[in-house]
Amino acid sequence: MVSRQQLQSVGRNCPGYAPIETMTNLEENEENVRCDTCIHWVNGRCDIDLFDEVLESLDQT
Ligand code: SF4
Repeated sequence: MVSRQQLQSVGRNCPGYAPIETMTNLEENEENVRCDTCIHWVNGRCDIDLFDEVLESLDQT
């Protein structure tokens, strides 16, 4: 199960992050940068398979 904390940590550190269209520039602040506000987050997973990669790179720091 992916935690909200993980969604946020990965989103902030992901090179592929792209905000969904419904996010306005105002909402696009650090707090809202998460996988679940990214266009690549589909059905609870990253559709370009960056999630695990970024999560692993975080674990090593
Ligand atoms: S959904 Fe994928 S591309 Fe988007 S921030 Fe998360 S890991 Fe990165």
